[in-house]
Amino acid sequence: MAKSQEFLGERRGHLVAKLEVTREATGREGLPLLPAARHYKETEHIPQIIAAIARIDNGTYGYCIDCEEEIPKKRLLRHPHVERCVPCQTIKEKNERR
Ligand SMILES: [Zn+2]
Repeated sequence: MAKSQEFLGERRGHLVAKLEVTREATGREGLPLLPAARHYKETEHIPQIIAAIARIDNGTYGYCIDCEEEIPKKRLLRHPHVERCVPCQTIKEKNERR
C-alpha cells in the first residue's frame, strides 16, 4: 500500500519547513546560535531531513532503508525524517550503544 500523493506532499512541506527552522537556529558554521537543547538536538537531524525530502522525490519515502518494509503512517507523522521501521531502528540503536 503506497502512501498517497497528498500524504507525501504534506510530509514534504513539513520537512522543508522544519529544515528552514532548523537552519535558522544554526550559525553559518553549523553551530547552534540558540542555546536551547531542543534546537541543538534538531541540528543533528539536518542530514536526515534532507535525505527524507530526497526519498519523497525519488519515491522511496515511507519504506525502511534496512528491511524495505513500509513504515507505519503514524510513525511518519510523529517523526517525518525517520529512515527505519521501529524494529530496525531498535537494532541500530543497540548496535551503536555497544
Ligand atoms: Zn526495517
